[in-house]
Amino acid sequence: MRVNEYLCLVGSGQFGLSNRMDCHVYLLHRGPDAVLIDAGVGVEPERILENIAADLPPTATVRAILLTHSHSDHAGGAQALSKAFGCPVYASPAEGAIVRAGTDHELGLDRARPSGVYPMDYEFAHCEAQDVGDGETVEFGELALRAVVVPSHSLGSTAWVYDGPGGIDLFSGDIVFAKGAIGLLNCYGSSLEAYRENFGKLATLGINGFYPGHFVFCLENGQQHLDLAAEELKALYVPKCF
Ligand SMILES: [Zn+2]
Repeated sequence: MRVNEYLCLVGSGQFGLSNRMDCHVYLLHRGPDAVLIDAGVGVEPERILENIAADLPPTATVRAILLTHSHSDHAGGAQALSKAFGCPVYASPAEGAIVRAGTDHELGLDRARPSGVYPMDYEFAHCEAQDVGDGETVEFGELALRAVVVPSHSLGSTAWVYDGPGGIDLFSGDIVFAKGAIGLLNCYGSSLEAYRENFGKLATLGINGFYPGHFVFCLENGQQHLDLAAEELKALYVPKCF
C-alpha cells in the first residue's frame, strides 16, 4: 500500500495487509535503494514479500532491515526476509543480542503466548543482526536513517529518523502511538521509569511524518503526538497505553 512517493506499508495485521500478528512493516525507497522498517512475525512472510514486489519500483533493491525492537511481531520475520533479500539486519545492541540468541523470557514470549498474542506453538526465528548505537546512521545512497535508542517499551527500543523529501519522518516502533499513547507492557524489558528517563529524546525532533508500529500513522504534524506523550510522562498518573 503506497503512503507517498517514497514510502509504502507492506505488512500489517491490523490493516489486513499480511499475517494478523504482523506489526506495520514499512518500505522506504529512494532511487535504487530501499530499506524495510521491521519485519513482521515470520508467519506467512510470503505475503509481505508479495506486497514488496507489488510496491517497489523494479529498479530498486532492499538493502537492509532496520528493527525497532526484538518482539516477535516486529522481528520474528527478520530471518526469512533477510534471507529473501540477502541483506543485513540492523538493531540496537540490546535488541540485537535478543534477536541473535534471546530466550523466550527476554523476547517477552513467556507472557505473550499465554496472553493469546501468539499461538502456544509459536517459536521465534533467531537471526544475525548488526549493532547500531544511539545516534548512529545507517546509509544507502540517498537513504540515511538515524537510530534514536529510547529504552522504554523494551530495553533498547529504537526510533528511526529519516530526514527526507517529506521533512523529518519518525518510525517509532512501539515506543509511542498516535494521540500520545505509550507502549508500556508488563513483561521483561518494559519500564515506566525508563520511559520517564528516556522519552525526552523524542521531544525536540520536529517530526512531520509519524509512523508507529501499530494503529494509525500520520502524514504530517507528527510531533504533536510525541509532545502529548512527553506531557503525560511528566504528570503523576500512569499515561494511557496502546
Ligand atoms: Zn508491536
